[in-house]
Amino acid sequence: MKEQLALLIKLQEFDRQLNQFREEEKLLPERLNMAQQPLERAKETLAKLKSALDQVTKERKEKEQALQSAEEKITKLKGRLTELKTNKEYQTHLHEIESSNAEKGKIEEELLVAMDRADAVKKEVGAQEKVVVEEEKKFRSEKEALEGALTSRSESMKGVEKERAALSEKIEKNILAEYKRLSATQRGLAVVALKGNICTGCHFSLPPQLVAEVRKGEKVLGCTYCHRILYVAPT
Ligand SMILES: [Zn+2]
Repeated sequence: MKEQLALLIKLQEFDRQLNQFREEEKLLPERLNMAQQPLERAKETLAKLKSALDQVTKERKEKEQALQSAEEKITKLKGRLTELKTNKEYQTHLHEIESSNAEKGKIEEELLVAMDRADAVKKEVGAQEKVVVEEEKKFRSEKEALEGALTSRSESMKGVEKERAALSEKIEKNILAEYKRLSATQRGLAVVALKGNICTGCHFSLPPQLVAEVRKGEKVLGCTYCHRILYVAPT
């Protein structure tokens, strides 16, 4: 029976390792997602900057067109100067040219502002593109590390599974069935140590009779309260 108990303890350790690995496998998508967040944020910022750049470029083009129209208007006005008959008409026309020139000056100033803004946003886009490249690199290496670690562990888990299978064959069928039942209901803790007269599974103190029998190790015995299989902890 002592051998059976030793096998059960080993079996439980294998199961613990396998369960832990499965949990980590389940967590991988979430971990990858978390690792990807900085990259996603950097991309979002880049997208916003690009749309801002589109906007300022559009404004700049509008100002350029407005400037061109203003220049054409002035050229036309100047061309008509010779057609004018009276001095009054001439003065009015000169006045109109003057105000058109003022308007043109205003547009030129606005165009300069728009060009400066477009340049500034363009620089920001360039800088953010570099940030995205960096974040992409970081994410790729983190992804490789996470997946690589899991892959190499998956290899060693295959070994554990094989050992576990071989080991279960050596355990008596009814004991193995009890172990499986307990493992399922007691969250993977089916075999627990007895410390003094305390069950380390449920922390209740056990009747002296049971404690004595567990110490003898002639039978596979369960805790009175939580039914977990008991063994004597090495001192
Ligand atoms: Zn117990």
